Formats: sequence, C-alpha cells, structure tokens
Amino acid sequence: MSRKEMDWANIGFAYHKTDKRYVSNFKDGAWDAGTITEDATIVMSEDAGVLHYAQEVFEGLKAYETEDGHIVTFRPDLNAERMVDSAKRLEMPPFPKDRFLDAVEQVVKANADWVPPYGSGATLYIRPVMFATGNVIGVKPADEYQFRIFVTPVGPYFKGGAKPIVVKISDFDRAAPHGTGNIKAGLNYAMSLHAIVTAHEEGFAENVYLDAQSRTYIEETGGANIIFVDADGNLVVPKSFTDSILPSITRRSIVEVAQKYLGLKVDQRPVKLSEVHEFKEMGLCGTAAVISPVGMINDHGKEIAFASGMEQMGPVIQKLYDTLTGIQMGHIEAPAGWVHQIL
Ligand SMILES: *Cc1c(COP(=O)(O)O)cnc(C)c1O
Repeated sequence: MSRKEMDWANIGFAYHKTDKRYVSNFKDGAWDAGTITEDATIVMSEDAGVLHYAQEVFEGLKAYETEDGHIVTFRPDLNAERMVDSAKRLEMPPFPKDRFLDAVEQVVKANADWVPPYGSGATLYIRPVMFATGNVIGVKPADEYQFRIFVTPVGPYFKGGAKPIVVKISDFDRAAPHGTGNIKAGLNYAMSLHAIVTAHEEGFAENVYLDAQSRTYIEETGGANIIFVDADGNLVVPKSFTDSILPSITRRSIVEVAQKYLGLKVDQRPVKLSEVHEFKEMGLCGTAAVISPVGMINDHGKEIAFASGMEQMGPVIQKLYDTLTGIQMGHIEAPAGWVHQIL
C-alpha cells in the first residue's frame, strides 16, 4: 500500500475523486454481476426516472484505520438493511444485503491508498447510491437502475474540538406523517435546502424540525437525529408517533452504549418542545460528526440554553462520544459484529 499524500487535517468535508468505484446495473429484472471501474461519470437517458420523479436512495458510512493498522467499517450490515428498506419504499429493486457488504469491501480495498492514517481525524467516507436510469414519462417506477458506491476522504468534522452550536426551531417541515422521513432518500434533502440556507443566513447552524402533524414534538434536524440528557443524567431519545424520523445507526448505537457501557437509563418516547428546557444536554448524531453538541435552541427568538453551555460538550454526551469513538477506533472492546474488518 502506498498511501496518498494529502493534508489530512485540512481536507474538509468535500468530494475528492478517488481511483475506483463499484457499479452494478439492474436490467431485465436482475442486477448484473457488478464491477470495479475507474469511470466517475454516469451517462444516462434524458428520460431517466431519477431526473423526473426522484427515484433515488443513498447511504453513508465510513472506513478508517484503527490503532493497530487495520481498515474497518462500523456496522455496515445496518446500512445494507436500511438501503433495502429505503429502496422498497420507493418501489426500487433492493440491492441484496450480502452484495452490498461485498461491494463495500471491494471498493474500500480498491481505494486502500485513500484511507486516512490513524490519528489524523480524517476518514474515508463511503457513499452508496441507487437511482432509476430507465425511461419514464408517465408516473411509474422505472425498470432499470444503477447501484454505485464511491469513496472520498473527508477531514475531521470538528477542527480544534467540538464547539456547541445554536440551532433554530424551523417553520418548515422535513417529513410528512407516515411519509418518507424514515428512509434515506435524496428527496428528503431537496426540500430541506431552502430551510438550511435560510437558517444559515439567520446565523443558526441547523434546523430542528417538529412533527408536521401537531407541531408539538421534536423530530430531528435535516441530517442528524437528536439526543437529550435529562436532569437525572439519563438519555432521552425522541421517538416519532408518525414514523417520520430517520433510523440513525449512530443514534441506535448510542442507545446501546448508554445502557450497556455507561449504565444509563434510556427513555425513547415522543419529546415535546415545551419540555426541552428541563434537559441538561443536547446532541445531534450521525455518521459524519458522531455527536455534535448543541448549546442552545432558538425558538422564534426565545432562547433555550442548556446547562452544558457554549464552550464544551456536556459531561454525559462527552462520555457517550468517547465510548463510541473508542469502540470504533479499537481502544474499547466492541459488541459482537459492530466493527467489520476489511484489511
Ligand atoms: C443519514 C441521516 C441521519 C444519520 O444517520 P446515521 O446512520 O447515524 O449516519 C439522520 N437523519 C437523517 C435525515 C439522515 O439522512
């Protein structure tokens, strides 16, 4: 292996074209054998279904080097399962779970030189994506699809430590009740772009979306689930009664870490905006940042400040962060099946 020379600490969260990608096409009712290719472009018909009716789903996971020099991924089986669920909801042919895992291995091995070194804070981001390439004019599912995985090295999410952010309660909705909020589809992001640009213009880092039905309960942000720590130091995790929160793998892992490693009680239930001021800590969780601490919520000018403040992560979220990243990096023994070795 001859690792690429890059300024790992400063590459940012951006697309860098790497050498190889995995591609499989679905045609005549079946996925082809799949192959590794150098072609980073996609040529398709002007009438491809993805361009008109947004038949597209994706995933996001990371590969990284552990302290002892292995290249691993974290719970990729859950990404494979979630992508099957996402595909079914959009009437796309699911890419089989075992083939997803094999494709992740192939593409990471083919780009091993791009895996950032242990300790750099950078990781190799893995982006599986699946979209309709077949022709459609009338509204119906296409009959041809492409499944593709590419990888790109990404820098440390927090340069110089994780500073708490300020988020706003959004007047836009992210996901309809019983709609597509629980799948990982580009369509959920297209309609969030105006909301996030608006929030940034107003000086907020993120939007917190309420449930679209009653505008009473906390759901999630545009791309991360939410966790709270209550006055007793236990974890409170918002649950949707309209099934419109994306099932984050990071959040599900944090729940297990809280219970099994830290002995915390975990309450997964609908959480009202009106009770949030009683909580001590808040965090946003997802693959990219693991946990981002939130110092304050702005609810239409009313500031809800958490006891953890604006300088550092609260103590419970810090422990969760240290334990989960310790498991991922191999310092702390992982539950069976969580860390998947590729090289
Ligand atoms: C991907 C995503 C998350 C985070 O999920 P992880 O599996 O933890 O990366 C949270 N919310 C939304 C809307 C997402 O798309």
